[in-house]
Amino acid sequence: MNNLMISDNPPSNIGHINIPIFIPEEGCPNQCVFCNQRAITNHDVALPPDMVRQFVNSWLEKSNTQNKVISVAFFGGSFTGIPVKAQEAYLKEALKLKEENIIDQIRLSTRPDYINQDVITRLTRHSVDVVELGIQSLNDHVLSSSKRGHTSQTAIEACHAIKAAGMHLIMQTMIGLPASDSQTDLRTAAEVVKIKPDGVRIYPCLVYKDSELEDLYLKQLFTPLTLDEAVTLSAQLTLLYEASAIPILRIGLHASSGNQALIAGPFHPSFKALVETEIWNGLLKNHLKEFYGTNSVNYEAKLIGNNITIKANPSVINHAVGFEGRNKKELAQLFHEVRFQKENSLNGREFETTVIVNSAS
Ligand code: SF4
Repeated sequence: MNNLMISDNPPSNIGHINIPIFIPEEGCPNQCVFCNQRAITNHDVALPPDMVRQFVNSWLEKSNTQNKVISVAFFGGSFTGIPVKAQEAYLKEALKLKEENIIDQIRLSTRPDYINQDVITRLTRHSVDVVELGIQSLNDHVLSSSKRGHTSQTAIEACHAIKAAGMHLIMQTMIGLPASDSQTDLRTAAEVVKIKPDGVRIYPCLVYKDSELEDLYLKQLFTPLTLDEAVTLSAQLTLLYEASAIPILRIGLHASSGNQALIAGPFHPSFKALVETEIWNGLLKNHLKEFYGTNSVNYEAKLIGNNITIKANPSVINHAVGFEGRNKKELAQLFHEVRFQKENSLNGREFETTVIVNSAS
């Protein structure tokens, strides 16, 4: 009988409610090859500033706000690229809600080249808390191939300006862009770690209808990542960011995010669950290999026919079992019996394994 505990704890997340106010395509003269903003957000018309309060109140009526940080989030397009008058009108409404303690935070998303000193002054004057920057990549060849219209240096400078102004910085990144590969995407992540943002989002590049990427894809000039490639790379990035205590706010797009317009690419409604399955698969395999020696023939021979019990915290036990039981099924090819048990005393991705030699085998 063997018993071992492995510790690999992801950082914990505080509960947040983001009340999303979409600003689709407004103010954005760019056409990044992967972007069809209307398809992704499913919203064609921006909410007028004088409707923000009513929208927030109706959202809050439907939400359980206990112990949650409540944010108004201007997402969708490039907020600091819309006319200054409109920015001021939205921010003024949001600031009033914050001063009345109806919300806790003001968040917005924008592009790195729409950050300058005037913008920073406007945002701090309206008490903006969090700026999400669409970084996508920090490789100049990838940025130009994606027609982002700015360099990695612009992105890095924008990140530092936001942090220096005391606002929280979230970096949105995209894997599998044109001219990218897994090494390039990992190097971008290493650069992100150096900047030390307050959070990251990881989105796989998808091909949407009416985007330039659709043409490139149809002409076979662009091949998106396969789902397996995207999951494997996202698992590597997850571990990299966790090791640097950088929270990951999201991996993969929401299931409802413009699916009708999706042409190709590694979309899966349970993308994050697939990534967690991959991480747990690696943890369990590495543990068994380390425990039974690096000689894979011996290691498998020693395990065949035995019983194994794996204990993990209830909050992660499904990830350990794997999406649609994948990890369990894989272990069942070696072991006679595979059991997963919930254990509250284990945290994060800690787990315990107990192997019982089956004398009947
Ligand atoms: S991704 Fe952002 S910057 Fe690029 S075209 Fe779409 S809205 Fe504009």
